[in-house]
Amino acid sequence: MNGSIRVGNLFGIPFYINLSWFLILGLMTLSYGGNLGSQFPQLGLGLSLFLGLIAALLLFASVLAHELGHSFVAIKQGIQVKSITLFLFGGLAGLDQEAKTPAGAFWIAIAGPLVSLLLFLGLHFIGSYLIVTGALSCCAFKL
Ligand SMILES: [Zn+2]
Repeated sequence: MNGSIRVGNLFGIPFYINLSWFLILGLMTLSYGGNLGSQFPQLGLGLSLFLGLIAALLLFASVLAHELGHSFVAIKQGIQVKSITLFLFGGLAGLDQEAKTPAGAFWIAIAGPLVSLLLFLGLHFIGSYLIVTGALSCCAFKL
């Protein structure tokens, strides 16, 4: 993808961030931070924005986990993953080739959403049984 910066490898897969990602990271930081600042004015602008940035980065960590789900299933089928890129609209795992069978394609396609679902269930479980109050509860459970 043009305009992407290689930031390293994840499990041997080249990991890129497209420049457009910084736009959405900034907007999400302002949105989350603004919400926190209005609900918890005692935090101040700097801390609200910092927590907003953390929330935005955690969201993109979940997008990355989703793409790794696609990638690991592809690798298990012998398909090379050329890259994972985060960009304006989310993430993209670049596979070297198509799956050899329709069932293989199905499992590659469903692996990402399954990772997202597992993250949701795990975090929902934690949110249901942990007593978290204040800005942390706002930040962690309104994503
Ligand atoms: Zn996906």
